[in-house]
Amino acid sequence: MAHPNGDHQLKRIVLPSGKTIEVVYFESLAAEAEAAPAPAPAPAKPAKRTQVDLHVCPECSSELVYPVAWEEADESHWSIALRCPNCEWAEDGVYAQGDCDRFDDELERGTDALTRDYKRLMTANLADEIERFAHALEVDAILPMDF
Ligand SMILES: [Zn+2]
Repeated sequence: MAHPNGDHQLKRIVLPSGKTIEVVYFESLAAEAEAAPAPAPAPAKPAKRTQVDLHVCPECSSELVYPVAWEEADESHWSIALRCPNCEWAEDGVYAQGDCDRFDDELERGTDALTRDYKRLMTANLADEIERFAHALEVDAILPMDF
């Protein structure tokens, strides 16, 4: 079950400055994680050095590595194609279920961060609209015939 990056949605957002930006939403969690800010690194657990942090790039240490495609290798392993958006490092590998679960958590955190940013943008935009409307009312720029 590969997940291509093709499914995306475009949302146009008007910033308080009046500038319009386009935000691309990918169906795949992976692509969303790429655009999200890197989560704070978890405290090191020296006892478990066999773990692999799949979201960390072995080349440039970027924490934005995401899966391009993945499929079940056996009942406890996944075959994943990884990509680092920072240095273009890529790898096809088979990883243990535990590593994949933590990777999944990491991607979900990235998605949450992006959703929060989006909501903040929407709130900022709305607040600006209300302010403009209130100002227009104040200076009598809006008359009953406008409705
Ligand atoms: Zn990298």
